[in-house]
Amino acid sequence: MTAKILDGNVLSAKLRESLRHRAAELAAQACRPGLAVILVGENPASQVYVRNKIRACEAVGVHSEKYEFSADASPKEVLARIAALNADPKIHGILVQLPLPAHFDESEVLEAIDAEKDVDGFHAENVGLLAQGSPRFISCTPYGVMEMLAAENVSLRGKEVVVVGRSNIVGKPMALLLIGASATVTVCHSQTRDLAFHTRRADVLIAAVGKPKMITGGMIKPGAVVIDVGINRLTAGPDAGKLCGDVDFESAKEVASLITPVPGGVGPMTITMLLANTIESAQRAAEK
Ligand code: NDP
Repeated sequence: MTAKILDGNVLSAKLRESLRHRAAELAAQACRPGLAVILVGENPASQVYVRNKIRACEAVGVHSEKYEFSADASPKEVLARIAALNADPKIHGILVQLPLPAHFDESEVLEAIDAEKDVDGFHAENVGLLAQGSPRFISCTPYGVMEMLAAENVSLRGKEVVVVGRSNIVGKPMALLLIGASATVTVCHSQTRDLAFHTRRADVLIAAVGKPKMITGGMIKPGAVVIDVGINRLTAGPDAGKLCGDVDFESAKEVASLITPVPGGVGPMTITMLLANTIESAQRAAEK
């Protein structure tokens, strides 16, 4: 079997087209959606992510503002900027690019964002709402994965779904969404005793680990749907410098029925769902 490739760029382009229309409608009602992005420090990967987010905003007609702070900025300065953005009616979404420098208390910064502008869905109030099954904002990466599964009509009800990774930004919200979709969910992590035992049972396997090609074809149930969230840069071998996922794509695609590539899979969907959350937030503001 050779799996069908689930192309995140194609699906994103389709969704962004409809988001562009929604943004234009809101702009016509004097409520143009606005996103503020805060970047602290000079992490090159973060700089690329922020640049891509700003570009994506421009392409769909979402107003964007970027605030850059040096790596030695004080948390007080950043918190003051967040407070100003919380009060700014032009801004419907505030995103703090993670990771923050070590002298920052990440949760203090995330909790300072108005929960109604928390388009990343990391504020405790929004995590709580998701856990209760009535989300206000869904974290962008798990939201993107759910959209990909829906676009392919992958039914989740009663299915065995295994999530590898339990981070606050991917694994945990992913598991909550899957429970909400009536899947039977197993969450694996670094202390899981026999990872392959679990992954081989999965009708849908979602990898969010950060370890290049750790899930191989032999760990996948024939016919499974495989979603690879991982983004890793290879440091050695002939492909050094290239990006790859947590799944060994070459061996996995011979076993799975549907698989996402890296790059070009979940990555573009994450940014698309950030735009969707910002537009949704602006819509709520317009209705108030
Ligand atoms: P974290 O480092 O926060 O979490 C990694 C998780 O993987 C942890 O729960 C960890 O377990 C688990 N883990 C580590 N080693 C193993 C192992 N050997 N077996 C099983 N589980 C293991 O990473 P993130 O969740 O932030 O990101 C995961 C990956 O997804 C990264 O490659 C990241 O770049 C990518 N990513 C991609 C996005 C996209 O848009 N496509 C968005 C966000 C992230 P434990 O909790 O026990 O430490």
